[in-house]
Amino acid sequence: MQQRFSDSFSKVEARAISQHDDFMLDTIRFFRNANKLYRRFDDWKGVDRFYFIPLNLNMTYCIGGYSINMADGPVYLGTFIRNIVEHPDLFEFRCPKCGKTLYPYGFNGSPLSGRVDLQSMCDCGWEGYEMVSGWRKRSDALKAAQREDKFRLSKYQFRVKCLKEQHSTVEELLGWLKK
Ligand SMILES: [Zn+2]
Repeated sequence: MQQRFSDSFSKVEARAISQHDDFMLDTIRFFRNANKLYRRFDDWKGVDRFYFIPLNLNMTYCIGGYSINMADGPVYLGTFIRNIVEHPDLFEFRCPKCGKTLYPYGFNGSPLSGRVDLQSMCDCGWEGYEMVSGWRKRSDALKAAQREDKFRLSKYQFRVKCLKEQHSTVEELLGWLKK
């Protein structure tokens, strides 16, 4: 696989390629295409195999040998996006360059200082993060969204087990949206 262009993910992508880390590569695909997946959320949110695409997000904060997680267990694409669009007060911000409304493709921060960085990319070319305050309320919102999806997830996992389905990928979802 060749790198298509150079951006803030190129480094981590190169490492994932050398380690044959397909999971990370698929999550990088999400980072790069997050705005499109937000825009088209209504089209794919009802499809379980897309909703429950696992993401390899770093949402852990480590201090003195302890790690504190912003989420409970694996974070799925649909849960992640739904939580954000349902809480614009916590996650939406304006592009500092063009003023467009942005949603983050990732966020992490410190439960001690409370600082959270909402990472995003804008269609105008701006890339970066918005620094906000309030780690706990954002963690609580995500964990609540995960609990709300538990029943749907267990039904889906049961079907996956019975039908021996493979979980889907961001790559497959992007291909499906093009059809
Ligand atoms: Zn912009």
